[in-house]
Amino acid sequence: MRVPTEVTEEIKLLLSKISSKAEPVFVICSPSPNAPRNECFPLVEAKIEKEGGERVLGWQIWQGQLLVEAEFHAVWKTPAGEFLDITPKPFPVEQIFFVADPKTKYEGKQINNIRINITGNPLVDEFISVHDAVFRIENKGKRALQYQLSLSGKEADAHNKLNAAKPMLEMMALQGNTRNSSCLCGSREKYKACHGKIIRKLLNDF
Ligand SMILES: [Zn+2]
Repeated sequence: MRVPTEVTEEIKLLLSKISSKAEPVFVICSPSPNAPRNECFPLVEAKIEKEGGERVLGWQIWQGQLLVEAEFHAVWKTPAGEFLDITPKPFPVEQIFFVADPKTKYEGKQINNIRINITGNPLVDEFISVHDAVFRIENKGKRALQYQLSLSGKEADAHNKLNAAKPMLEMMALQGNTRNSSCLCGSREKYKACHGKIIRKLLNDF
């Protein structure tokens, strides 16, 4: 995933799914040293306590080859009024593309990413559904407020299988395969008759 450089039709469609009329802006990344990755909410709170300013909630927008994606995120508004992204990322970026969203409230519960398939390939819809199902399992009931995930039995099994399906579906779609292509697992069966079947069942059940 990369930071978009312009508002394409695909990005416009993604923005239309967000309940905010704010204009997206580029926000400079200035990650706090030694801070954990992707933990923007506590990090911004701590920053405000020490240096003042405000928290701005919104969405960071990512452009991929298969989809465009919005990820709920907090940035820091400095006392001088400048937006800064102080959260370290899994991969370094100089700036993010960010749309402020004062309507969506953060109450300690994870908020699912918004993803749009930009390929027209149903495999990518399946890839997105797998992400959504993993999110549902991880955030079911009280789990939404718990930091550590502990799963057992059928749920743990489904969670493992769905997570394992993510890179497989991504690879298949990037190579231009469809549900009718050979399954990437090497079984020589069509995806839809092999792993696709298992995944459809899991998507149904979870
Ligand atoms: Zn297979």
